[in-house]
Amino acid sequence: MNIQQIYMDANALLEGHFKLSSGNHSQFYLQSAKVLEDPKTAKLLADALAKEIKASGLEIDTVCAPALGGLIAGFALATALDVRSIFAERVDGEMTIRRGFEIKPGEKVLMCEDIITTGGSAMEAAAVIQGLGGEIVGVAALANRGFCHREDSDIQTQPNCKLPQNIPFFALADFTFEMYPPEDCPLCKEGSEAIKPGSRGN
Ligand code: ZN
Repeated sequence: MNIQQIYMDANALLEGHFKLSSGNHSQFYLQSAKVLEDPKTAKLLADALAKEIKASGLEIDTVCAPALGGLIAGFALATALDVRSIFAERVDGEMTIRRGFEIKPGEKVLMCEDIITTGGSAMEAAAVIQGLGGEIVGVAALANRGFCHREDSDIQTQPNCKLPQNIPFFALADFTFEMYPPEDCPLCKEGSEAIKPGSRGN
């Protein structure tokens, strides 16, 4: 399955000057919502990811996605794995579990994002799950931005990866385009302004 082609076909691989949620700037942005707006594509991707996870033998009770980005991927993956689907959300900047979702002691939770960049949001949500007694058994995403090592890839973990090294990370593909701290961004140096994806209709 050519994930990059699927993103390109859905006009979900955007080119411009973007400010990512990590604070870094990039010439490219992956708008997974555009890929996932077609439920059949969402199912196709989630089924492929679930197949890889099942083959690993990992035991999972629940998929937890950080809102908003991970919601659709998380739900689709939980459907494919036939497990419970919950989500974490930010309230006043703090990641929380609300909506009456309960975590049993020792419950095996797989964190799911649409794209893992450094994994910061996923790990913030994971810390909340752990605080409630759950066990984080793995991380999954449709695609990996290339800062973390995923199963079946030669890409090694970079210093800015926030995913723990003792649990598996599953993703369908690596998208390894450059990202810059704002002070070193060549696009800023050319005088353009980074926009937050989603803020101007994209
Ligand atoms: Zn910039």
